[in-house]
Amino acid sequence: MRPFQPLRETLLASALWAIVALGSLFVRDGLGTALLFWAPSGVAVAAFRHIPRKQWPLLVAGLLPVQFIVGALVGTSLVIAFAGAVSAVAQATICAALSRKVLGSRTAIPRRVTHVIGLFGSAIASCLVGATLVLPFRPEQSFAEFGAWFLANVLGILIVTPALLHARSVIVRWHNDGRIAVDPALLLALGGCAVLAALALQVNAITLMPLLVAAMIGMAVRFGHPAIAMTLLSYIAVASVLGLGGQSPLLMHDGSIGSAVLELQSWLFTMLATALPLAAILMKREDLQFELIRRNSAMHENLMLLDLAEQLAGIGRWRLDMLTGEQDWSRRMLAIHGLPEDLAPDPGDISHLLPDGSTAMFRKVTSNREEREPFSFDYRIKPPAGAERILRISVLNEFDNEGNRIAIFGAAMEVTEQVHREQALDLARGRAVQLAKEAQELANTDPLTNLPNRRCTFGRLENMVNVAQQHGSALTAIMFDIDHFKLVNDTHGHQTGDEVIVQVAELARRQARQGDLVGRIGGEEFVWLLPRINAAAARALAERLRQSVERGIEGSSLPNITVSIGLAQFEAGDDGDGLLARADAALYKAKESGRNRVRRAA
Ligand code: GH3
Ligand code: MG
Ligand code: MG
Repeated sequence: MRPFQPLRETLLASALWAIVALGSLFVRDGLGTALLFWAPSGVAVAAFRHIPRKQWPLLVAGLLPVQFIVGALVGTSLVIAFAGAVSAVAQATICAALSRKVLGSRTAIPRRVTHVIGLFGSAIASCLVGATLVLPFRPEQSFAEFGAWFLANVLGILIVTPALLHARSVIVRWHNDGRIAVDPALLLALGGCAVLAALALQVNAITLMPLLVAAMIGMAVRFGHPAIAMTLLSYIAVASVLGLGGQSPLLMHDGSIGSAVLELQSWLFTMLATALPLAAILMKREDLQFELIRRNSAMHENLMLLDLAEQLAGIGRWRLDMLTGEQDWSRRMLAIHGLPEDLAPDPGDISHLLPDGSTAMFRKVTSNREEREPFSFDYRIKPPAGAERILRISVLNEFDNEGNRIAIFGAAMEVTEQVHREQALDLARGRAVQLAKEAQELANTDPLTNLPNRRCTFGRLENMVNVAQQHGSALTAIMFDIDHFKLVNDTHGHQTGDEVIVQVAELARRQARQGDLVGRIGGEEFVWLLPRINAAAARALAERLRQSVERGIEGSSLPNITVSIGLAQFEAGDDGDGLLARADAALYKAKESGRNRVRRAA
């Protein structure tokens, strides 16, 4: 079936052209009247516009002989018939090609002013070519005849082509269920136009011709711009009928039929020119309407997506227009505030409905009138039903060019669980930090005396040595050991021994200055580190410690004991171990030379 379609369309177009042409000639010549326009030119252009360009050669091959035969049949010479056929085909192809260029595609409906002007120009240009092509074969024709031929063809194209191409979309309506119906209102209106045309052409007393323009405009406004061509077609049909039998279609016209026809043609041309801006305005309006509908549906879709996104993300949206006082609550925003969702989008004054806490939030949001950056805060509400909720709102003020705040936009979400989780996390974090601190203290502290233990003491010694090295400052290390401690244990028991150790630790602590360190590094061995002190002062302090241990704590029931003390000064190139070794050697000397004394390292 498909391969025959081009052939079928060519045959159809040729047949339609032949019928219209013969019909026109029959009306004009057979009955001795004058046809008002050359309708076949419009049929040919519509045929070329209707089919794809690659089928044009076939259509040319079909139309040329038909046009030649029709020309020969009605008695013109074969040469003129051939010239007429070539002229008609050339005119139709040029017009269709130009129209297609103007519209961009063969099926497009004119939608812009440039389209309408372009189609008008295509018709005039192609008809000028067509009329010029036959000129050499009819040298006897007058300028008026040339003009009439040209004008008739232009009118034929401008009126018949759109009527054939677009009438279907105007007259016929497609229902949703596939049924096709003819628009009765349009048919009725066209009938009315025809009656008006008959009156206007025939009533002699007053001229009703301007009414025809008004009717055409009315039709265009009511049924769209393709209705213009159909209205004009109805006028022409009436004029043709009135012209049957050699009558003048214009009753009030007293000249020849020929000049009456010319006058009518000028009228039609004027009406088309009037229709031009009108059609452009209507098309513009249609475009705007389409654009509006498109944007509306796009906006609707976006809003739906926004709602969906809000539902999924659990974010509520609120906007207050400061100029109109209009509010826009999204359903989600109402829901998270414990309000009924059917209040959306503008619930008006709902301060009496707002749960505790949210009134204060809105006061805060509205009073923040200068803020230009987005800001965000948490607030707690207590809905009438249900537990307290924590909500977080992010707010953005909108300003006009003068810097006046014109709207407030807020997006809120429920963060109750999140906040509770964060609080629990903070608590756990604090507890863990505390535990770690305690563990570290435990790891660094001697449990019996609460003094820094050996590990901690050696760590601090390294630090102090580093400082002394870097700044060249003084540092003294003192080592002291309880004399004959084994005897204390043996005589008074281990428990008392412990108490003695604690007491010595306490006495040493009392002697220590701010920034000193006293640590227990072994059973009854201690280290006292004294930064930034000269040798004489350090020795005096060591001596004071020895004496205070010898004296004991007043009122104490513990046995009297003494300590031996070794003292070493930091020297350049010392490390912690070296310094302590020298202090230890001094201590050994103190023990050796009788105990209960202070000795300095050499
Ligand atoms: P000196 O230092 O004067 O030479 O004699 P000393 O008797 O003190 O000698 P040494 O340093 O050898 O003895 C230390 C004793 O301290 C040995 C040990 O039983 C005892 N001792 C070590 N740690 C503790 C402790 O934590 N508590 C008690 N009660 N005794 C301890
Ligand atoms: Mg000892
Ligand atoms: Mg010892």
